[in-house]
Amino acid sequence: MNYSFWEKYFIESPSEITIIGAGIVGLSTAISIKERYPEVSVKILERSTSPNGASTKNAGFSCFGSVSELLDDIEHIGEEACMEIVKMRWYGLKKLKERVGIENMEYHHVGGTELFDKNDLQTFEKCQSQSDQLNEMLEDHLGIKTCYQVQRNHQLGAFHDYHLFNAYEGIINPVKMMHTLHRMAVQLGVQIFYGHTIDDINMGDYTLSTVEGLNIHFQKLIICTNGFTRRLLPNIEVNPARNQVLMTKPLSNNPLKSGYHFDRGYLYFRPFQDRILLGGGRNMDLSGETTDAFGHSIIIQDYLCERLELIYPGASQQIDCWWSGIMGVGESKKPLTTWIHDDILTGIRLGGMGVAIGSHLGEQLAEKVLFNG
Ligand SMILES: Cc1cc2nc3c(=O)[nH]c(=O)nc-3n(C[C@H](O)[C@H](O)[C@H](O)COP(=O)(O)OP(=O)(O)OC[C@H]3O[C@@H](n4cnc5c(N)ncnc54)[C@H](O)[C@@H]3O)c2cc1C
Repeated sequence: MNYSFWEKYFIESPSEITIIGAGIVGLSTAISIKERYPEVSVKILERSTSPNGASTKNAGFSCFGSVSELLDDIEHIGEEACMEIVKMRWYGLKKLKERVGIENMEYHHVGGTELFDKNDLQTFEKCQSQSDQLNEMLEDHLGIKTCYQVQRNHQLGAFHDYHLFNAYEGIINPVKMMHTLHRMAVQLGVQIFYGHTIDDINMGDYTLSTVEGLNIHFQKLIICTNGFTRRLLPNIEVNPARNQVLMTKPLSNNPLKSGYHFDRGYLYFRPFQDRILLGGGRNMDLSGETTDAFGHSIIIQDYLCERLELIYPGASQQIDCWWSGIMGVGESKKPLTTWIHDDILTGIRLGGMGVAIGSHLGEQLAEKVLFNG
């Protein structure tokens, strides 16, 4: 890269806080820092010409957990830990709506629907029988009443006759959300440098080297690179997880009325205007999808097309486009916010709910970095 002295001098000089990654977490953290202390200098370094991981490629569900997913979590990590994660999602979404504004991210309060397999009566009955108990937990922890309700499924005949509806969820346009966050960060004085790929963090002399040939000094560093973090920190406890998504062309009589989850949230679909967005299914090939490389696989595409046909026969011939995004996952569903060095903090491992958690995590990271928490 042909940098002038001026460019090098500007980009390489240290800010008080440097963030790697301009996804929802990097931007939210920068905004939270500046909202508290406008005089603190904050710089974000992003490898692409715009955010390029999950935040602009996701499905845009504003959700905090389906019944089957929460029951599964309670079974594995216990009620307290599960509710702690649900609270992060709930408060994250509240913060996001307050900050961005519902119009600026095209939020539609359409609810969330968990569908069940026609032939898997056992899962439906388990979820139905435990939904009252879950509702009580959510009332205790979030103060919301009758979160999950059993309803008759009139629209999607290929699924079980009843579904569980969550009236507190909605759908958004993730790129509009990110665009607003970017604008807010810039207005608050955050310097965002696109097109700088960090390839090494030198913890001894507090510099970041970039693929483009710069050495950027930092004082305090926050790593918000989620599913790509292992490229910088090979032993960190986060794995990349690719998710493939399709969007159909406009369809007449689109049957979708809300955001839909199936199979513990592994499969999801929603309307966008007259179109259907459908994605997920990485559990069909977990090892193949443990990658930080964007792209597609026949196994997942075939599976998603098969599912699309159940929702809207003929729609697999009406696909407008495919894309993929990279999440960061791990054994634990809790984000990893750890000091890996005196002055280096991580804000990674957002799993499949980073839209929900991102703003809350940004607040937590700001608090930690400002007060050495
Ligand atoms: C297909 C898909 C659907 C999803 N659907 C939903 C949903 O409906 N609801 C929900 O809540 N969540 C959803 N998620 C999850 C959510 O999108 C993520 O959890 C969230 O966006 C993570 O944000 P982040 O800022 O941590 O990471 P990212 O958005 O991935 O941002 C990380 C940034 O770091 C940059 N970067 C990486 N390495 C470097 C480097 N070496 N140097 C400089 N920059 C670097 C990347 O380019 C990227 O812009 C979905 C994810 C995917 C992939």
